[in-house]
Amino acid sequence: MNGYVVLRVIGEGSFGRALLVRQESSNQMFAMKEIRLPKSLSGTQSSRKEAVLLAKMKHPNIVAFQESFEAEGHLYIVMEYCDGGDLMQKIKHQKGKLFPEDTILNWFTQMCLAVNHIHKKRVLHRDIKSKNIFLTQNGKVKLGDFGSARLLSNPMAFACTYVGTPYYVPPEIWENMPYNNKSDIWSLGCILYELCTLKHPFQANSWKSLILKICQGSLRPLPPQYSCELQHLIKQMFKRNPSHRPSATTLLSRGSLARLVRKCLPPEIITEYGEQVLEETKNSKPSTPRKKGKNFRKLTFCSISFQSVV
Ligand code: ADP
Ligand code: MG
Repeated sequence: MNGYVVLRVIGEGSFGRALLVRQESSNQMFAMKEIRLPKSLSGTQSSRKEAVLLAKMKHPNIVAFQESFEAEGHLYIVMEYCDGGDLMQKIKHQKGKLFPEDTILNWFTQMCLAVNHIHKKRVLHRDIKSKNIFLTQNGKVKLGDFGSARLLSNPMAFACTYVGTPYYVPPEIWENMPYNNKSDIWSLGCILYELCTLKHPFQANSWKSLILKICQGSLRPLPPQYSCELQHLIKQMFKRNPSHRPSATTLLSRGSLARLVRKCLPPEIITEYGEQVLEETKNSKPSTPRKKGKNFRKLTFCSISFQSVV
């Protein structure tokens, strides 16, 4: 098909399938998303947006676009194949064994770099979740699945419709407020919490109680082995008022993340926008030293209290 040989199915969803393919000309492996095109013109145009937006992104922490084409009522998006599976699978495979903090911070920094990149291009992802974060065997983390993403027409615009996964949906959406870049930050906070606890931050048996928990921000503190810095990051990202949440650039310009940015960014990317992040890093106040919550007293001192923001 268009010079690709299908090797196997790597994912299935409501859109269609994700396939592992080999390009005949180069023998290189790619992932190919096969999307059934709806009959209506507006539906078809909406499906094409995923390919258009993904093609705009060029960043080491975003799944690289190769090409797209249409055949027999389907849209095919060919992209870089991430051979380490998705982050949701990775979390499940841990079987309760917590990740080391260094690993969490490294992955999280890479996710922030990806989100920073898309927000700079005025794109909202709107479906940030562990299942849409892909991994490679060599430790790279890549944001994928731009099926719900939208381009904002101007920097102050808000996207009004939302089609995300309930666990990751921020309070403003449940309250019928517009989706904005800080809504992606909330979802990113959900992934950070998941990486630290291997559980969703907000879980419930019914929609009603899930929405209530999200809107109240009632959250269990992180396990004691994690630093106050991580606790603090999560607290900031789960601010109920979106404007009080840090942007991706702010997250990257502080503490451990700022230090990791230098490691994560390859030189060619630094010229693109890294300079701004690195500039903010230089200007930011020295971060508080990392403390490990070794005993209960320290833990309660830095545990998250959301009562004040409800
Ligand atoms: P959906 O719209 O159904 O969520 P995704 O683009 O997220 O579609 O793809 C579904 C699944 O297929 C992903 O969760 C992942 O496991 C796998 N997948 C998709 N793209 C890739 C890729 N580039 N590399 C590796 N796995 C992928
Ligand atoms: Mg997906």
